[in-house]
Amino acid sequence: MGKMGGYTPMMRQYLAIKEQYPDALLFFRLGDFYELFFDDAVTAARELEITLTGRDGGSGRVPMCGVPHHSAEQYIRQLIDKGYKVAICEQMEDPKTAKGVVRREVVRVITPGTFIEGHSLAGHENHYLAAVSGDADGRLALAVCDVGTGDFYVTEAEDAQALYDELAAYAPREVLLDEQAASRVSRRTLKQLWGAAVTEWNGESDAARDAVRARIQGEVADGPVRAATRLVTYLEATQKRTLAHITRIVPYRARQFLQLDASARRNLELVETIRGKERKGSLLWLLDRTMTAMGARLLRRWLDKPLLDRRAIEQRLDAVQFFYDHLPLRLEVREHLRGVYDLERLAGRIAFGSANARDLVQLRRSLEAAAELLAQLADAGGPLAQWTRETDTCSDVAAAIAEALVDDPPPTITEGGMIREGYHARLDELRRASREGKAWIAELEAREREATGIKSLKVGYNRVFGYYIEVSKPNLHLVPLHRYERKQTLANAERFVTPELKEKEALILEAESSLVDLEHELFCALRDRVKGHLVRLQALARRIAELDVLQALADVSAERGYVRPELADDGPLVIEEGRHPVVEATLTDGAFVPNDVRLDDERPILLITGPNMAGKSTYMRQVALIVILAQMGCFVPAKRARIPIVDRIFTRIGASDDLAGGQSTFMVEMVETKAALLGATKKSLLLLDEIGRGTSTYDGMALAQAVIEYLHDRVGAKTLFSTHYHELTALGERLPGVVNVHAACSEQDGKVIFLHKILPGKADKSYGIHVAERAGLPPELIERARAILAELEGGETGAGRAASASPPAADPAEPRQLSFADWLFASPPAPERDPEEEAVLEAIRRLDPERTTPLEALQLLFEWKRRL
Ligand code: ADP
Repeated sequence: MGKMGGYTPMMRQYLAIKEQYPDALLFFRLGDFYELFFDDAVTAARELEITLTGRDGGSGRVPMCGVPHHSAEQYIRQLIDKGYKVAICEQMEDPKTAKGVVRREVVRVITPGTFIEGHSLAGHENHYLAAVSGDADGRLALAVCDVGTGDFYVTEAEDAQALYDELAAYAPREVLLDEQAASRVSRRTLKQLWGAAVTEWNGESDAARDAVRARIQGEVADGPVRAATRLVTYLEATQKRTLAHITRIVPYRARQFLQLDASARRNLELVETIRGKERKGSLLWLLDRTMTAMGARLLRRWLDKPLLDRRAIEQRLDAVQFFYDHLPLRLEVREHLRGVYDLERLAGRIAFGSANARDLVQLRRSLEAAAELLAQLADAGGPLAQWTRETDTCSDVAAAIAEALVDDPPPTITEGGMIREGYHARLDELRRASREGKAWIAELEAREREATGIKSLKVGYNRVFGYYIEVSKPNLHLVPLHRYERKQTLANAERFVTPELKEKEALILEAESSLVDLEHELFCALRDRVKGHLVRLQALARRIAELDVLQALADVSAERGYVRPELADDGPLVIEEGRHPVVEATLTDGAFVPNDVRLDDERPILLITGPNMAGKSTYMRQVALIVILAQMGCFVPAKRARIPIVDRIFTRIGASDDLAGGQSTFMVEMVETKAALLGATKKSLLLLDEIGRGTSTYDGMALAQAVIEYLHDRVGAKTLFSTHYHELTALGERLPGVVNVHAACSEQDGKVIFLHKILPGKADKSYGIHVAERAGLPPELIERARAILAELEGGETGAGRAASASPPAADPAEPRQLSFADWLFASPPAPERDPEEEAVLEAIRRLDPERTTPLEALQLLFEWKRRL
């Protein structure tokens, strides 16, 4: 390649622009194509599997490839999906009239987090761009924005782990890291967790900062403001268009919601399955009875962020109950919702100036459907009446659109046909002129045939000559040459015009061209007018989305026979005949076996034993899912549920993927366990499945026991702990807060049958021997096995023998005899300590000796002494 000077002027223009966008593939508009040159061409040709050609660049051949501009979107999508960025460079003037090289500019840079084109995305999902910024004292701030809908949130995270947990709720396609954040956040983890593209970005413009400050709601620390500013600056730099639909930035703290870390979200299969990473089979899939894309997105948000505020949850439950109880109304509401398009994305398109007349007509129809829906709910009474009555339906916007636009406008906005008759006097005049001119021409043929006596005379039109009168050769002698002017000669005919025809033609053309211009102008004015109401439209969209989610939750609840949960601030968590919502829905052979649970402050730990495949982890998960459903405001799959508000859910279930990178599965297991042990409070729910399985038996068992003891003595969180270490059941007898339960089995003809029933007591350890005996193994062998077992049991650690188990040990072969109810609703033994004593004990429990100075310790000792 030669020096810059050797290139053609166009190539020089290309290189100058490319220099400004080194990290994007530059799509350079040349006529009807976007062309790529040099390395970009090589990369694109490879990734898109299109032909790599070349072009004379002035000093030799330059590699080149191209895609037609009308089908560019699909190619762009492919490149974005592969993690590239694409800079779109357009011709900014008409090549026909341009002097020298056509002026070109980059009009947008498309990146994974900002690719929001209409049909290319599933509308029921948000598409987030995130920005993380760090500050000097180690805190991280997070801003996330969906450029298509204008949703924008900011929050803070104490450390990288908390950040990943928070990001997990958004699964952003692209994450911007500033310098401080880049040194603390692992790019690899971001990529592994959601395949997010990572961009280092430190830009921060004053305009963006002002925009953020004007939109942020309430008092916010510097960190989130900075993260939001960086994000908006990035949008300014890449989108190069108005972001008027970002009307509010919503700050929140993770602790305002039920906290679910990344592994809990994954393990509980809230939005996708663990194995296939599919939506089908997830809780979201089960719940999604929404009728609108906005509703579907909000449902996901509710699921990602269950609430802690009991009043807010009850409000949702009241509304769900209302829809639950009124089936005909629910059906009507669903029907109305069907007529509401994606108001949020429409608002986005209006803000971008990319909305066409069809979009506005859709907006109008949606507003009309929404207004009807709200009116109906207002009339129906119930908990939503007041709220719907107060909702602004933006009827003036709908009316303005209805007045201006025809019902079925064309998709282009530059060819007329959009504006209604009677909307604009001048437009009507032009239309009349055009119509009259055309009518005059339509009658011309008949008139001239009569005047000339030429029966075959025709009036026609072509692009080059315009309107003409055509006379065939044999009739030429009849042409009135004083009026007709010869225009074109064909093989067997001549074409003529008359001065009058020329005049009419000019009139028509002029009228049509001004008409099209005027329509465009009127349309843009209307669109701008609508744009002035974005805040109202978005507020309405949120309400519609909320209604949609509420009816959806009611719909599933009613269809699947869920009940309204009783919420409480504390006290026992009790579920009577609970079911796993998704397993229940997907079991093909019918009956899901319901199970009970009770976790209270005095006995917060359930130790679950039983063979593999007996239903232990299904049971554990269903408890967590019921809590999540309850706190998002949904009914729950149970006969009765009392749910004290849970602040966090931790899970350590099954073999998890190697997410931390390079760590052994066991290490991951321990890291997750640590997070649970240190992060949990009395109000948390822990699911710990087979802790210690990843290492040798004694090692693992020792760890498992220590974990239970730690939870018992120090944490007091509600815990479901499953294990195949039988020896651990001794803890159920030794520690007052640990209750043994087991997944029952029976056997028939030597085959184990899983009853999927969780019953009090520990699993029958000699069960296997039982089965072996039935299967007809030699009696001596069976006897010997019993002896070995007894020996092993004799050496069991922990206090007591199985015989003294309380609650009563179950005979798994006879599950029917067992009533869970006594145990379930029995009030726990009342503590006999006096409150002062309890308070002192609590203080000792909380005290961290390693962080206490000798002086403090002494003072505390005096205080305690005084209190007792
Ligand atoms: P474990 O954790 O004890 O190995 P799982 O909870 O994974 O067992 O359950 C194994 C299978 O048994 C599940 O895939 C499910 O199909 C079925 N199952 C579990 N619990 C129930 C239940 N309560 N009712 C019906 N089938 C169940």
